[in-house]
Amino acid sequence: MREARKGMLLVISGPSGAGKGTLYNRVLSADGSMTFSVSYTTRAPRPGEVEGRDYCFVTEEQFLEMLGKDGFLEHADVHGHMYGTPRQPVLDALEKGRSVMLDIDPQGALQVMEKMPGCVSVFILPPSFGELRRRLEGRGTETREEIERRLHNARGEVALKDRYQYLVVNDDLEVAYQTLQGIVNAEKQRSCRYFPVVEE
Ligand code: ADP
Ligand code: 5GP
Repeated sequence: MREARKGMLLVISGPSGAGKGTLYNRVLSADGSMTFSVSYTTRAPRPGEVEGRDYCFVTEEQFLEMLGKDGFLEHADVHGHMYGTPRQPVLDALEKGRSVMLDIDPQGALQVMEKMPGCVSVFILPPSFGELRRRLEGRGTETREEIERRLHNARGEVALKDRYQYLVVNDDLEVAYQTLQGIVNAEKQRSCRYFPVVEE
């Protein structure tokens, strides 16, 4: 069987601490044809974060320069820092038939849904705001003040969940992973992206 595939743009959002990274890293390691889009941010790196792998860490000046050159597919101020998806790497990967995963906030996701109407959008929900707090505190990567800000912003982010095509509640990690992987698998088989050739 000969077959060809068109790349899929997968947009993942959800409140900080909902478990987005934990879930999509499993999807990425199971699927060699999917690329993670490395965002630009003006926030400081956390211990263990690697430049160019987790983010491209830039100054506000550098961010604005790139914005001035129309270098972002979308961008937003999230929790007091600028974040943006570089346009060209995403378009290049899709052009080559690769799928691309974006981890972006709802402000950015709404921009992408408008510009790239064929994208697949998934919102990851925590089982409760209490559990979201426990996860953020347990992760221990933000200060108390930053955690409170993220928890406050989580309410507004969750209010936008119905703008997404799919919702996944990350309560039991294994169930949530299987659900997300199921969405990805089904979306890849859509006839607009999958072109098998039935030979004689
Ligand atoms: P996000 O990328 O959405 O900010 P993370 O993937 O960093 O969230 O997860 C936040 C914290 O919650 C991490 O410490 C992670 O190990 C933990 N976590 C993720 N999913 C679950 C789950 N289903 N149950 C319990 N803890 C989880
Ligand atoms: P963190 O600082 O925890 O890595 O990310 C904070 C928030 O910024 C998360 O909601 C994440 O989805 C979002 N984010 C990360 N990269 C981008 C981006 O390029 N654009 C937008 N709009 N949001 C982003």
